[in-house]
Parts: sequence; structure tokens; C-alpha cells
Amino acid sequence: MKSKSNWNILSPAAKAVIVGKGTEIPFSGEYCNLKEMGTYLCAQCEAPLYQSQDKFDSGCGWPSFEDEIKGSVTHIIDKDGRRMEIICSNCEGHLGHVFHGEQLTKKIHVIVLIQFL
Ligand SMILES: [Zn+2]
Repeated sequence: MKSKSNWNILSPAAKAVIVGKGTEIPFSGEYCNLKEMGTYLCAQCEAPLYQSQDKFDSGCGWPSFEDEIKGSVTHIIDKDGRRMEIICSNCEGHLGHVFHGEQLTKKIHVIVLIQFL
């Protein structure tokens, strides 16, 4: 995990999501269908966010996780007052949104965008 002075320099596309709170085009991300074992790190500060064993195929076009590494992800109510935005607890970079109640898995249903290394 890096301190602010050492954050990674982001590509324009990554910056649009992480800093600008944008949304990656569905099914376009390199991590969408990735099944290799490992840990997903924040693209900006390299904080560990998710483990591959918690990843599942939601069919939504974005990497989806049913659990996060404890304390690494902060949940905040979105500007629209309905959705739950998730940000990196270390650098506050935008990760995506949490969706509940789809019943795709027994746990929560987390949709995450390209915020990964
Ligand atoms: Zn971060």
C-alpha cells in the first residue's frame, strides 16, 4: 500500500473511473473474466482490496465479488441517495457500486470496475 506521495500514475481511462467516478464499458475490462488466483490491488495505491476466491461470475460485465478484504473498502451512499458507492479505504479512489438482493450468491453482491493493478 502506497502513501499519497507515491501513488501510481494512472492512465487516462483509469483516472476517469478512479478519480472521476466513471464507469468502465461492460465486458471491456481485462479483469472481468479473469479466474487466476490472487489478490486484487487498488490501481492507485496498491492496497489489497479483494481475493480471487471471492470473485464470481455475475454476468454483468464487470468484475464481481461477494466479499472484500476487511477494512479495505469503504461504503458510502451515492449522490443519488439510493446506490452504495465503494471506495478504496486508503486513497478514496472510486471502485464501483454495491448491489444487494440479486441473490446470485448467498452473500452481498459487489460490482467493481477497473480499479485494479
Ligand atoms: Zn487505493
